[in-house]
Amino acid sequence: METEIVPISDSKKQAEDLARAGKILQSGGLVAFPTETVYGLGANGLDAEACAKIYEAKGRPSDNPLILHVCDRAMVDTIAAEVPPMAERLLAAFCPGPITLILKRKDIVPDRITGGLDTVGIRMPEHMVARAMIRAAGVPVAAPSANISGRPSPTTAASVLRDMRGRIPLILDGGPCHFGVESTIVDCTGPVATILRPGAITREMLAEVLGGVKLDPAIVGAKVVPKAPGMKYKHYAPNAPMTLLEGAPSKMPAAFRRQVRLLQGEGHRVGVLASHEVCEALRGLVPDELLADYGAQGDLLTIASRIYESLIAFNDTDADVLLGEGMSDAGLGLAIMNRLHKASGFHSIPV
Ligand code: AMP
Ligand code: MG
Repeated sequence: METEIVPISDSKKQAEDLARAGKILQSGGLVAFPTETVYGLGANGLDAEACAKIYEAKGRPSDNPLILHVCDRAMVDTIAAEVPPMAERLLAAFCPGPITLILKRKDIVPDRITGGLDTVGIRMPEHMVARAMIRAAGVPVAAPSANISGRPSPTTAASVLRDMRGRIPLILDGGPCHFGVESTIVDCTGPVATILRPGAITREMLAEVLGGVKLDPAIVGAKVVPKAPGMKYKHYAPNAPMTLLEGAPSKMPAAFRRQVRLLQGEGHRVGVLASHEVCEALRGLVPDELLADYGAQGDLLTIASRIYESLIAFNDTDADVLLGEGMSDAGLGLAIMNRLHKASGFHSIPV
């Protein structure tokens, strides 16, 4: 199968391309599309056979459920058996936006996409292309991230093509994704809302709207089975093993210089994913192509939007070990640290 990338830019062509994407989805095919979080790999979410193609194209384990994407509030009611008051508040406060609500499902949702659970993950993306495509399809669109399972999520159409070439007919190119980390997943089926995966809607933002919010202990590395089945799998992994340095930002430049010298002394080609401050301190010691500057320390929006593409880019270098810079888990830092911990297999050195 040939994979075509179409840029969504000028308006007449755009309407045609979106209609074509809608038709592919209606006839049981796959379309990759941009959202404000990462690129999704979409199929008709009410068609079990179409969704089976997602699992096949990604190599995704069959017990890992898919999130259903809707274009408006009315579509939520077609798939959710009930919308409890806490979910209504989250819908009003954050939707459309980078949040997924876990709700009791209706029978119309195929077992195949929920991994047999009696719940369903529902998200209303804000991205104009995603919304228009779902509207054109006329059905909820099941969509995980558009990468091969285990690899970093794509935040550009070029990265989607890298993993999905020959596996899907169409990629809608809407440019780089704004946030760059997947949606916050909030389980709304219990007495207290629980974050199953941190994202751009932060714990602090949720607490402000709901009063109380819990964190699934698996997020911070506790040895328990996570409530979001997909969170137990290896994720976001670059080819080379990665270690995080964690501690005060002011200590980072010196700590990196020490660690890099140590590893280079052992004969390693060291790649570094770190702040602008650290990268500047390493110029000359680490070759430029092995330095990935993820933004200034504390500029969390920029950092989140750059980490996956940086991890993917290391696979084109000869780095055989990677060092990453950790940060505080306040605000968006929780989502970033969750991804960095998974990419490094929870391998950290305190500084
Ligand atoms: P992805 O779409 O690849 O970003 O992954 C979707 C994430 O949502 C995975 O971690 C799934 O396990 C999780 N998820 C989807 N549906 C449910 C559900 N009904 N209950 C709990 N977690 C879910
Ligand atoms: Mg994913």
